[in-house]
Amino acid sequence: MDKELLAMLVCPLCKGKLKYNREALELECRFDGLAYPIRDGIPVMLPEEARAMSVDETLHDSPGRTGEA
Ligand SMILES: [Zn+2]
Repeated sequence: MDKELLAMLVCPLCKGKLKYNREALELECRFDGLAYPIRDGIPVMLPEEARAMSVDETLHDSPGRTGEA
């Protein structure tokens, strides 16, 4: 995944920054709780193709979090 390409990508819904999930090969928008798939190295920036993340996933490593539950 090209870092410069990644920096250019924003969520098509909220225009927010995306987080690259290297293991899942997804680009995550925590604001919308959607994970956009990367297929054959090409990000699929379509809301209808995106996976809805669980609440736990969206909370994971969020900046406001303090300590473990
Ligand atoms: Zn978004």
